[in-house]
Amino acid sequence: MKNDGLSTLYVVATPIGNLDDLSQRAIAVLQQVDKIAAEDTRHSASLLKHYLIKKPMLSLHNFNERERVSAILEALAAGESIALISDAGTPLISDPGYHLVRAVRAAHFKVVPIPGACAAIAALSAAGLPTDKFIFEGFLPAKTEAKRQQLLGLVKEPRTLVFYEAPHRLLPTLQTMVEVFSGEREVVVARELTKLYESILQLPLNDMLAYYEAHPEQCKGEVVIMLAGAKEAATDQAALERILTVLLANLPLKQAASVAAELTGERKNEVYAFALRLKQG
Ligand code: SAM
Repeated sequence: MKNDGLSTLYVVATPIGNLDDLSQRAIAVLQQVDKIAAEDTRHSASLLKHYLIKKPMLSLHNFNERERVSAILEALAAGESIALISDAGTPLISDPGYHLVRAVRAAHFKVVPIPGACAAIAALSAAGLPTDKFIFEGFLPAKTEAKRQQLLGLVKEPRTLVFYEAPHRLLPTLQTMVEVFSGEREVVVARELTKLYESILQLPLNDMLAYYEAHPEQCKGEVVIMLAGAKEAATDQAALERILTVLLANLPLKQAASVAAELTGERKNEVYAFALRLKQG
């Protein structure tokens, strides 16, 4: 189908730091649309100013997205074209836009992606961890116990794990990760991608935690945390479950996990996490 640009919602990726990462096509679309919906209009104004783009803007953030949907549907019905941008990277990826895109598609208007920067993909592309399969977990819960529970559910996940994190939570999150995963698990922290102080550090979890504890001044800027997936277990899951079921019936959780780890040669942390899940049903 030929895209005449009328009544179209363009989902436009913007840079995650380096302004030169805005694509030629993104610039052309932003110049051509009738309106730009932005997560934070003031923040995006500086990007648009850099490219001499002057357009009517409307704000669309987590707290007003549902109200904005009807106004945007009306504009599309009137033949207008709208670009959706977020503060950085690809809209909808841990950013607003899901309700809008869903509603626009349901109303049978065109939705056209204009691809570009995304921190998770940029981080993965340079981390040196397996990328044939990965899972994107977005932001972990801020509270320690909820975070721990979520991570416990990922202990056996064999695919590379990708998390977004706020700078002030990097250290507490690494601490919780060390408690839940084996300290030898490989982790990559990608900070300030495409910016002046870009760094991509790859270490075993224990060492990564020690590094950031020793350098709290480095816990600044935006980060993506990537964890290597779980290695193929030497013992199959069903056998471990049978062993743990017997032990849990006779021993406290910690002791049961420790004996099972001894018997199977599996990592203590991982057996403990599995035993905990078994016990919680
Ligand atoms: N939509 C964005 C994208 O496509 O990547 C993500 C938005 S989310 C609200 C912001 C999070 O993305 C940050 O907390 C950080 O985890 C990650 N992020 C964004 N820019 C980054 C950068 N330049 N370097 C590292 N991580 C970044």
